[in-house]
Amino acid sequence: MPPFSCVAQLLSRSERHRRCRRRPTRFSISRGRHVVLPGLINTHHHFYQHLTRAVPGAQDRELFGWLKTLYPIWANLTAGAVYTSAQMAVAELMLSGCTTSSDHLYLFPNDCSLDDEIRAVCEMGMRFHASRGSMSVGESNGGLPPDSLVENESHILRDSQRLIETYHDNQRHAMIRITLAPCSPFRCRPI
Ligand SMILES: [Zn+2]
Repeated sequence: MPPFSCVAQLLSRSERHRRCRRRPTRFSISRGRHVVLPGLINTHHHFYQHLTRAVPGAQDRELFGWLKTLYPIWANLTAGAVYTSAQMAVAELMLSGCTTSSDHLYLFPNDCSLDDEIRAVCEMGMRFHASRGSMSVGESNGGLPPDSLVENESHILRDSQRLIETYHDNQRHAMIRITLAPCSPFRCRPI
């Protein structure tokens, strides 16, 4: 099948023969002994967390304890780690029948950016809704994450606009869309 195309119609063999005689289709494939299933859609994920699955001391904690245990580890996240974890996650999703995924990335320490994740997913060929997450309230302002993991609000807005202008495609069957996804009230301040 040509890249980035979609299945327009499924036809029985007799119907296909009848139509092809009348008007040849642009492209068709014959799969008489196969079952065609729609691709699964994954609506929520944090790809980078692939790297810290089953960390002792975190895995059995409640949400806040789990976050507080893992934040110091996630503070070491790099662009390479974002890229690798996205490829791991997408490989796992594809192997289970998923063809579209969203991902909520909201940690941007060191040299991390959403670009690394988008590049990884594009190389794998999955349809992707990339969420530019954000946290702006660190511990010193009463928030949950360490100050090293939160961002300045004006930077968040600038980077969000850059990502939309660079990648967002609002066409039907688009392979990349950008969504904006600020985190919870204990990690973000309403503007
Ligand atoms: Zn989540």
